[in-house]
Amino acid sequence: MGELKVDKHVQYILSVEKKKDSFEALVMEHLRMNGAYWGLTTLDLLQNVASVDQEEVISWLMSCWDRESGGFAGTIGLDPHLLYTLSAVQILALLNRFDVLDIEMISEYVAGLQNEDGSFSGDMWGEIDTRFSYCAIFCLSILHCLDKINVGKAVNYILSCKNLDGGFGATPGGESHAGQIFCCVGALSITGSLHHVDRDLLGWWLCERQCPDGGLNGRPEKLADVCYSWWVLSSLIMIDRVHWIDKSKLTEYILNCQDSENGGISDRPDNAVDVFHTYFGVAGLSLMEYPGLKPIDPAYALPIDVVNRIFFSKF
Ligand SMILES: [Zn+2]
Repeated sequence: MGELKVDKHVQYILSVEKKKDSFEALVMEHLRMNGAYWGLTTLDLLQNVASVDQEEVISWLMSCWDRESGGFAGTIGLDPHLLYTLSAVQILALLNRFDVLDIEMISEYVAGLQNEDGSFSGDMWGEIDTRFSYCAIFCLSILHCLDKINVGKAVNYILSCKNLDGGFGATPGGESHAGQIFCCVGALSITGSLHHVDRDLLGWWLCERQCPDGGLNGRPEKLADVCYSWWVLSSLIMIDRVHWIDKSKLTEYILNCQDSENGGISDRPDNAVDVFHTYFGVAGLSLMEYPGLKPIDPAYALPIDVVNRIFFSKF
């Protein structure tokens, strides 16, 4: 089995950052905030976050903050959305810079997106998805503001999206999908509600995601893809069933998706690399305790030392 090309991946992430003048260049225009989170978290897991100009990141990030609503946009000048607000909060948690946040305004923005049935809209336009429940619960938890929403209703809404196969969908009746399961199990974990999950049933569905090539897919009949290493494994860890996966085969699959010359990880062997799959590949290896990587928290998707600093030190 090959080994993780740590130096190459660090160089790859930094090179993507420098393609334009600033950190903004990480990925597609509207997803820049997500790209910044994927890139920075990867660097931190590889023990190299110090190689980034943090002041530059913070100054760009704060220029994506919408003072009127309190939410963050994906890049400068666009409308705020919960998905980008989550990434911004994750980046500031990682860099230990909550001091630049107006926590009151941001938590009001997030709490204001909760609907009467307990669900969350992603933004003012109202699309509802259990992904947004995770984003909201994550942000409010890490900012110590969960009391601003009706947690019981939020949990009940997520449970209303649970399927007979043990998985979860985007809305009630929606098909089970590994990404959605991560969001629902993560939100239930953060709110201390995992007792509502049938661990054996869900664990079985998740383990069925391992393909003959060792990689994991997102739902039945699909090809394996490195990004599901994160969504499936983190969910299995949260419900204490990760030992049902063949970790060495999955490790080999992820390592086979590396570009060992120029760095970066792709969705499948020999495909083009991107920051998204580089992050999920490294995060998956971290969940499997690959040597030399910082351990990552399966619910918060941040290095465990960051989560511990936030919850076990005075805020
Ligand atoms: Zn993918």
